[in-house]
Formats: sequence, structure tokens, C-alpha cells
Amino acid sequence: MLFDALKPQSELILGELTPYIRVERKKNAKRLALRLDSKDRIVRFVIPQNVSTRKAQEFLDLNGEWVLNRLDELPKAVPYQNGTILPILGQDIRVRISLDKTLKRTSIALKNNELLVLTNKDDPSSRINRYLKNLAKTHISEHANIKAETIHKTIHSVQIRDTKSRWGSCSHDGKLSFSWRLIFAPPASCDYVIAHEVAHLVHMDHSRNFWKQCEELCENYKAGKTWMRTNGHTLMRYGMNDNV
Ligand SMILES: [Zn+2]
Repeated sequence: MLFDALKPQSELILGELTPYIRVERKKNAKRLALRLDSKDRIVRFVIPQNVSTRKAQEFLDLNGEWVLNRLDELPKAVPYQNGTILPILGQDIRVRISLDKTLKRTSIALKNNELLVLTNKDDPSSRINRYLKNLAKTHISEHANIKAETIHKTIHSVQIRDTKSRWGSCSHDGKLSFSWRLIFAPPASCDYVIAHEVAHLVHMDHSRNFWKQCEELCENYKAGKTWMRTNGHTLMRYGMNDNV
């Protein structure tokens, strides 16, 4: 109908960008923005509440190419498949998946540099993630506690999270939390992040004294810090599927 063309456009047309874009209308957003979410391997399109769909569409049409290019630049996803090599705690671990529909549940074990996954699921990724999160918790808790003991501090709890933007954090009441994905980092880099959060038990800032404390807990902390800054984002690719 002719009149339809005159109506304000009510819905965004994403076209070929559909699988890669998540539209988020936000009241408190100030301007239109496209943000790469390297963890979920998508681009978030933030639209302030008071911006018309037509304006948003123009913006998207202008920047569609940018979206595809950014996603293309992401480190290649490493899905959990038979034969996939995962760098777990500094060792190259080969994933071995045996599918058996008669099994009642999935069981996973780490043996001789292999991650043995016996499963009844076509895609056991969530089980593998759970297993690796537990492994991360054991490893990181142990090392954080050892470090805390050397400086006579007590950790109240260690939590393992699936964070996007922070590798670790430390609260005023001595609760530490870490990203489970640190187990894919070189051990020295993981050790640095642990030392960093433990050092916060003494200094809640990033002052010179804080870094001194950090160095005491992890001699070569500068190398770990540089690695995390340069390569940290690559830890997000494990267990992911390529969108693009
Ligand atoms: Zn810090």
C-alpha cells in the first residue's frame, strides 16, 4: 500500500547482520553506538530511547561494514570438538569426546594430557565448561590462599565467574573473584592476576605500594600484566563457535 511508505518505520531491518547484532534500546544511553562483545562474538547496537528507528537504521546502514570487519578480526573460535587442543594450565590438552546415547550422564576426566569426555549429549560444551570452571576454582583458590598466607592475610572466599571485562576482583571484605577462563592463560599470566587480587587485600588502590606488593607475590608480574593486556581477549575463544 502506498500509505505504508509514509508511515514511520517501526522496526529495524538488520538484513545480513541479523546473526551478529543484538539490538538494545536503553533509556540512559546518550548516543547510538555499536559495541563489539568479544565474549559472545556479537555486536551490541545500543539505541537511546528517544532516537527514532529511522535514525537508528541510517546509522546501522552506514556502519554495517564496520560490524562485519570487527567480528572478522576476532581471534578464531576454538569449539570443543574431538581433537581440539586446549591450553589448560600451561599444558596442551587434547579433547576426546566419546558419544554414547545409552549413558545416563556425562563424565569428564583429565588424564595424560587428554580431556576425556564420555557423554550422551550431541553438544557437551556446557558440561565441559562446568568441569573447567571447577578446575579453575581448585587451582586459583589454592594459589590465592598460598599467596595470602605469605603476607598473613585471610581470603574469605574465592569465586569463579564468567566475566567479560575483568579477570579478577577483590572486595573490601576479602572476597576474591576470578574469571574461570584464566586457566587457558599461560601459568605466569594467571599467577599475575592472582597476585594482583591478593595484593588488593593489603592495598585497595593501584598505588606504588600496591605494585610493590604485587611484585612480592609474583616476581615477574610485569610480563604477566603485559600478556593479559595484549592477549587477554583471546581467552574468550575457547568453547565458542564462530558466528561469522
Ligand atoms: Zn586492581
